[in-house]
Parts: sequence; structure tokens; C-alpha cells
Amino acid sequence: MCIFCKIVNGEIPSYKVYEDENFLAFLDISQTTKGHTLVVPKRHYDNLLSLESDLASQIFPIVQKIALSIKEITKAEGFNILNNCGEVAGQSVMHFHIHIIPRYANDSFNIQFSSNSFTNEELNDLAEKIKNTL
Ligand code: 5GP
Ligand code: ZN
Repeated sequence: MCIFCKIVNGEIPSYKVYEDENFLAFLDISQTTKGHTLVVPKRHYDNLLSLESDLASQIFPIVQKIALSIKEITKAEGFNILNNCGEVAGQSVMHFHIHIIPRYANDSFNIQFSSNSFTNEELNDLAEKIKNTL
């Protein structure tokens, strides 16, 4: 059983901040920034791609609600809402989860997007192919 399933089952303790029939949210042990929280479905899904779509559609209002509470309590000035999908993307616990990472001026968390160059034709072609595969 994975570590988040153990947390859901109460076999491993956690600092819970939210619970309903389908979801649990608890403080991330790393506390990358103060209030760093994880939201997980109670049922095990490896990642976003295998998550049932009705659960996918239920999770964002919960993320929003928790972020609003964190903002009120910690005075966070912003958030990164993050999902690592797959090992190559940095996923280390293979139970789908959303990170709610509160941001503060001069905190130590850092996300930087690098840039790549593609021609207009390449981008058009790529967008069309993705669109036609939906
Ligand atoms: P990932 O790298 O898969 O996107 O994120 C996994 C997260 O789970 C990490 O931020 C890590 O700190 C957190 N984590 C790992 N083990 C535990 C645990 O036992 N308890 C809690 N609360 N968080 C954990
Ligand atoms: Zn699990």
C-alpha cells in the first residue's frame, strides 16, 4: 500500500486540514513554504492521467477553498498550485496529489519556466495534432 493510502487509512499520522467522502488534505511533511498542503483522492490513482474524470472535476473547488483558508491564516501573498505527473516530472509519491504551495515575499521556493524556440508552422502543427487527438 502506498504512503498516501496509509495516511488515508490512518496507519500513518498526518496533520489533516480537510476531509470529505472522496478527498483528504493534509500538511506536506516538507513544508516547502509555511502551509504547504497536499490534496489527495482517498482512492488510489497513480497520477492525473488515471484519475477518474468526475474526481478531477471535484478537486479544484476543494483546492480553492483550502487556499483561501491558508491565505487567511498565514497571510500568504500568492500560491503555486502544482501537480507532478510521472517520475520524469518529479512525482515521487505515485498516488495522485495536488500541491498547494503558499508563497511569501522572499520565500525559498522557486519555479522557473525555460523557453524553447519553435517555428510558427511547428506550433500550428503541434496544436492541431493535440486538438485532433482530444
Ligand atoms: P511529489 O514529489 O510526488 O509531487 O510530492 C510528494 C510530496 O509528498 C513531497 O512534497 C513530500 O514532502 C510529501 N510526503 C512524502 N511522504 C510524506 C509523508 O509521509 N507525510 C506527508 N505529510 N507528506 C509526505
Ligand atoms: Zn495510494
